[in-house]
Amino acid sequence: MYKLLKKDGRAKRAEFHTVHGVIQTPVFMNVGTVAAIKGAVSTADLEEIGTQVELSNTYHLHVRPGDHIVRQLGGLHKFMSWDRPILTDSGGFQVFSLAGLRKIKEEGVTFQSHIDGHKIFMGPEESMQIQSNLASTIAMAFDECAPHPCTREYMQNSVERTTRWLLRCKAEMDRLNSLPDTINRQQMLFGINQGGTFEDIRIWHAKEISQLKLDGYAVGGLAVGESHEEMYHILDVTVPFLPEDKPTYLMGVGTPANILEAVDRGVDFFDCVYPTRNGRHGHVYTNYGKLNLFNAKYELDDRPIEEGCQCPTCRRYSRAYIRHLLKAKEMLGMRLCVLHNLYFYNHLMEEIRGAIDAGCYGEFKQQKLAGFAMGGQK
Ligand SMILES: [Zn+2]
Repeated sequence: MYKLLKKDGRAKRAEFHTVHGVIQTPVFMNVGTVAAIKGAVSTADLEEIGTQVELSNTYHLHVRPGDHIVRQLGGLHKFMSWDRPILTDSGGFQVFSLAGLRKIKEEGVTFQSHIDGHKIFMGPEESMQIQSNLASTIAMAFDECAPHPCTREYMQNSVERTTRWLLRCKAEMDRLNSLPDTINRQQMLFGINQGGTFEDIRIWHAKEISQLKLDGYAVGGLAVGESHEEMYHILDVTVPFLPEDKPTYLMGVGTPANILEAVDRGVDFFDCVYPTRNGRHGHVYTNYGKLNLFNAKYELDDRPIEEGCQCPTCRRYSRAYIRHLLKAKEMLGMRLCVLHNLYFYNHLMEEIRGAIDAGCYGEFKQQKLAGFAMGGQK
């Protein structure tokens, strides 16, 4: 159940009630691709850095260890020892981006595993069954993330098929949730809006899927190579056609600045690999831009990554020490950077919620953007 608490301009502040607890939105979901946050971050760490939702990838878990294994072990929550909400993606994005040779038909997609090359078939029913076996809190509908750029005709056909797939996802999820031995019988389903940068297709599709009374709605197929301005424009024209009384999830986005802009356009769920991927490369976020800790200027810098940051890394370790660990290729260096970055994102969302609560989101956004644009120089 989604409870809209406050609006400030188009920015939404809400609570989303799930069987695994209440999510305060806007929220950033921390990406744990194979049921682990890359960079040796445990679920105990996630609790400490304020993670509300963990996100795992259906395709990866289907290929390894296999969703039937996870099901026999009691579902993803038990398997990874995490009792808060988990969102699983549908597998669609990986099928279309990672997997080798693939063939799209009305029934679904046949493709090759990126692990051992064996043939896998996945359609809406299979994706729902896998996600039901994983027993996540929120399941995503199986869709096609069309290539960017593609022709208008390709996009139109693709979005129409994605709509038919969504109906099949909903029917299958209803069936699975009604079975007595399903682990999470209150699993929720989010539909996904597609249409690339074709405004009219986006709007038509948003109207179509809004009629289905789903638990939430995502905007997919963005951050795939279009400019930030194009992405913001698509949000401007599309989000008003998605239900305001449901969560709006912008998939795979993005930088702190992207998040600030999208919140201002009514988006309240986010996920992105940037904080973890950048952290693993020694790139850390601060309120005045990103720092590269490999840089020689941090060799004797005994300050924390960011003064005043309350993350487990900054409370204890210096830039100089983390730089040394990174240079020595010690796993701890990577881990400390990822912990700081995820805390930074989670904390940014907390500040965003506070600003919407206080009715000063516009001002807050401008002040944050000005800081991020400083390029790490203070
Ligand atoms: Zn920190």
